[in-house]
Amino acid sequence: MVNHKRYGGGGIYNLYCTFTADNQWYRYLFLHEFGHSFAGLGDEYYTSSVAYNDFYTRGVEPTEPNITALLDPDNLKWKEYMSEGISVPTPWEKEDFDTMDLAYQKIRTEINDKIAQMKRNNAPQDEIAKTEQESEKLSRDHANKVDAYLNKSRFNGIVGAFEGAGYSAEGLYRPMLDCLMFTKGDKPFCKVCEMAVIRIIRFYSE
Ligand SMILES: [Zn+2]
Repeated sequence: MVNHKRYGGGGIYNLYCTFTADNQWYRYLFLHEFGHSFAGLGDEYYTSSVAYNDFYTRGVEPTEPNITALLDPDNLKWKEYMSEGISVPTPWEKEDFDTMDLAYQKIRTEINDKIAQMKRNNAPQDEIAKTEQESEKLSRDHANKVDAYLNKSRFNGIVGAFEGAGYSAEGLYRPMLDCLMFTKGDKPFCKVCEMAVIRIIRFYSE
């Protein structure tokens, strides 16, 4: 646990789990990074700017249990959990979601740049704090908006193969519309991630 206000964390399977503990997302951060470090789960998100591009080689099936390149749709690795009669890949409101998320990412980058600039220019502490609070509120409001959007989708709760996962908007698929490995917030793992965590618990305990 890192005593820092700034949002961040990382988890490597069987190696480490780290997260910042002094921000509004600490519960989410811990559980998300725990998913990586304890159960070897992959990141299902793809819209936020991360430090790596093309993390997964095209045409190669990722080893993580919750991401697929869908090279063999009839033998999906989570096929035992698939919803009845669901099409693969599973259609969803991806275009609208991407538009909404990209708009937020743009504002987020701007406000983070502004904060960095204020710090460089030794701006008054209270002004920096005020801008940081504004950034936190934006993040919270956006997460609430995303939750509301995904919750009302008719694909919510279905297990299929939804395009957009593993830092890639195309060519990689996740099991459900939403998951603790996909968006921020107090929410559960998707069915496939949940079962991967249970599998590891059984491996250690039985
Ligand atoms: Zn998941």
